Amino acid sequence: MNRQAKGKTPRRPPPKKTSNNQKDPVGVYCRVRPLGADDEECCIEVISNTTIQLHAPDGLKANRNGEFKETQYSFKKVFGIKTTQRELFEDVAKPLVEDLIHCKNGLLFTYGVTGSGKTHTMTGSPGQGGLLPRSLDMIFNSIGPYQAKRYVFKPDDKNGMEVQNQVDALLDRQKRDSQSTVPKTPTTRRIDPEFADMISPEDACRADGVDEDSSYSVFVSYIEIYNNYIYDLLEETPFDPIKPKPPQSKILREDQNHNMYVAGCTEVEVKSTEEAFEVFWRGQKKRRIANTQLNRESSRSHSVFIVKLAQAPLDADGDNVLQDKNQVNVSQLCLVDLAGSERTSRTRAEGNRLREAGNINQSLMTLRTCIEVLRENQMCGTNKMVPYRDSKVTHLFKNYFDGEGKVRMVVCVNPKADDYEETLLVMRFAEMTQEVEVARPVDRPICGFTAGRRQRNQAFKDELTRRLEERGGPVDGEFPTVLNQLLQSFPPLPPCEVSGPNDDVTLPRLIEALEKRHRIRQMMIAEYNKTANMLKSVLQEQDSNNLSKENFIHEQRGKLGEKDKMIQNQKNEIDRLEKKSKMLEYKIDILQKTTNIYEEDKRSLQHELESREQRLQREMSEKRRMESRMQGIVTDAKLKWEKECERRVNAKQLEMQNKLWVKDEKLKQLKAIVTEGKTENRQPQRPSREKDKVPPKRSASPSPVPTGAPVRPLHRRSHSAGGERWVDHKPSSNVELDTVLQANIPKAIKVNAPNEKALSKCDKYLLTHQEVASDGEIQTKLIKGDVFKTRGGGQAVQFTDIETLKQENPVVASSRKRRSSESGPDGEPMEGDWTDVETRCSVALEMRAGSNLGPGYQHHGYSKRRKP
Ligand code: ADP
Ligand code: MG
Repeated sequence: MNRQAKGKTPRRPPPKKTSNNQKDPVGVYCRVRPLGADDEECCIEVISNTTIQLHAPDGLKANRNGEFKETQYSFKKVFGIKTTQRELFEDVAKPLVEDLIHCKNGLLFTYGVTGSGKTHTMTGSPGQGGLLPRSLDMIFNSIGPYQAKRYVFKPDDKNGMEVQNQVDALLDRQKRDSQSTVPKTPTTRRIDPEFADMISPEDACRADGVDEDSSYSVFVSYIEIYNNYIYDLLEETPFDPIKPKPPQSKILREDQNHNMYVAGCTEVEVKSTEEAFEVFWRGQKKRRIANTQLNRESSRSHSVFIVKLAQAPLDADGDNVLQDKNQVNVSQLCLVDLAGSERTSRTRAEGNRLREAGNINQSLMTLRTCIEVLRENQMCGTNKMVPYRDSKVTHLFKNYFDGEGKVRMVVCVNPKADDYEETLLVMRFAEMTQEVEVARPVDRPICGFTAGRRQRNQAFKDELTRRLEERGGPVDGEFPTVLNQLLQSFPPLPPCEVSGPNDDVTLPRLIEALEKRHRIRQMMIAEYNKTANMLKSVLQEQDSNNLSKENFIHEQRGKLGEKDKMIQNQKNEIDRLEKKSKMLEYKIDILQKTTNIYEEDKRSLQHELESREQRLQREMSEKRRMESRMQGIVTDAKLKWEKECERRVNAKQLEMQNKLWVKDEKLKQLKAIVTEGKTENRQPQRPSREKDKVPPKRSASPSPVPTGAPVRPLHRRSHSAGGERWVDHKPSSNVELDTVLQANIPKAIKVNAPNEKALSKCDKYLLTHQEVASDGEIQTKLIKGDVFKTRGGGQAVQFTDIETLKQENPVVASSRKRRSSESGPDGEPMEGDWTDVETRCSVALEMRAGSNLGPGYQHHGYSKRRKP
């Protein structure tokens, strides 16, 4: 987080972030604690070293949301109930400590329901030290011999680190020693039994590759985030037993490298595991006291322990830390024990606490939201804003997720069935967190002065001391060979024995010689310095050359990697395309074959079409020929038939004229008969020609019987004892026919023309009437009627029945019969229909005695059923 070197150091240019495309997922581990003594039902089973399975407890309707009763969750690694604190440390925290020593940042947090073992995992207990004491121990085991003297590194108040000169550091040390509150030598002090035995000596481990030409210093801070307020647990406040001051909250700030830090937070420089842990314990105690005093629940606060490691190269001599702020590198490891992840309802919060609990939950909610958004951004390539600022916890760790550094999370679970539902939520969060990736920190090339200078300098010093001790101090003429040689190059000293008080020569000569020597020495020193500086600059140049080359190589490697990836991608693409092209070729082949088949089909169909067209043409011409022939025949037939029709019409006309003539003759005869009868009945008036003339088609009956006015109701004449008496009217014009059927009525009065006398004696009337039928044969009709007395004293006849007798030629009979009795094809009555029996029967002819009107007839149109 605190990368001082960023963009400022000429010798250690920061690796470009853009060249670092590698990302690692957040490492999520799962630790299952053993069941408590009273917990009986277990809902978690470790099924492999990466997977656990959750069983819904019996009483719970776990699948009400359609969830399975058993769900599996995978992690980077699962630690079962038998896992020791050491095993966990080796897997989870050790790599983070190694990173810390190699200038990389790390964040480690424990997450889970209250009571699931977060604090046990992070802090542990005596004999079972957790990740925190073990990390501290490993740090000091690794950098122990290379630690800088206290106060050489001094945090500024802007999240940076300064290097003090030796004198200032010494003064600070003296000041500290004089203060009685701070134990002078914590390492030798008796350790608080509360945290003794956190780490057993056999568990001690150290990091490899510690830069021996650097000097190190460890600073720790300890904060608590409660109800979204940050409290410094290491702040020294003068204790006031009367009016204890409430703890002041701290704010978050961003440093010049855009890293978040707690402004004004105490950073305690510690020189050993014990001292560091003691500081931690002090904070822990303070936290406990505050919680009791303020009635807070520690499970609802987040505790953050920050270990900062400052390192800077030694100077060229390998004696002191280089007095250059820009050379200081600070890395940090955050160890976070988060608040219980359970929902508010579970903690039974009331009143004021409810609000607090809400806030605590809120910060974990924000953490969840941030992780969600990060995951979405990374998976979908979106660029949604991650709401880090919504809570202090996420805001403080923003840089870890946005920048580079390892992030690890230990999900603690209690397998008891009561926790099932909360555990399910924890698992979902864990699953999601694993999908978030964080940029992998790159190795910073460590370059300074000549490597191994601390050792070399030390060796030289040791050797010098040894020799000095051996010889009991330097003696003239017994210097090491190099020095001897050096001394020999000086001009020899003149004899320095003074001969007397007046010896003015010896001393000035000695002075002169000594001055000369001094000058030579000065010159040599200057020469030496010049050469050393030259060498130094050459070495520095070489160093920077090396650095730039290394950077270049690193860059090239990155590029090479990219190129490799590109080549691989292209190879894959080529493979894909080849496969596709093969597929397409195959398809083309199939299509070609299909096309051929269709072509073939097309050809044969075309051929068929042509032959059919030819046939059609032939048939058409045949048809046309037939048509013209048929037309000829039709015209011929038409002509022939026209002629025939004309001939027949003429013949028929002639025949009809003859018949008309015959009828006329007969009518004349009938008229004569009627006229005769009228004279007898004093009916002098002749009917008018039109009235008299009965249309031959309607009725060919003889002239009507004289009638009077119709009597209504008509009275039937009573029958005489001898039965009915008939008037048999046979007009004299009737022709004698040789028919077998003849009307022969006994006791009938036979008349040629009806008269009143005869009618008055009888009650039945029969007219034998002859006429020419349509086929030219004579047919005889026997027209029957009843005789009635009219009111006027006359007689009236009402026809009731007609019998028809007809002679026929049996050859043509059948066809003609139809025509005479049936209606026409269009339903209209045919010519003879008017004369059928029904019609005739409804016609009454009346004759009135004494009437001057001529004989007439009247249609009464009575229906047959309404016979009078
Ligand atoms: P949290 O911090 O999650 O609320 P703690 O770490 O305080 O939970 O654990 C609650 C209790 O369970 C403590 O008494 C602790 O000693 C015990 N415990 C937790 N994890 C383990 C474990 N892995 N092995 C043995 N005891 C454990
Ligand atoms: Mg706890």
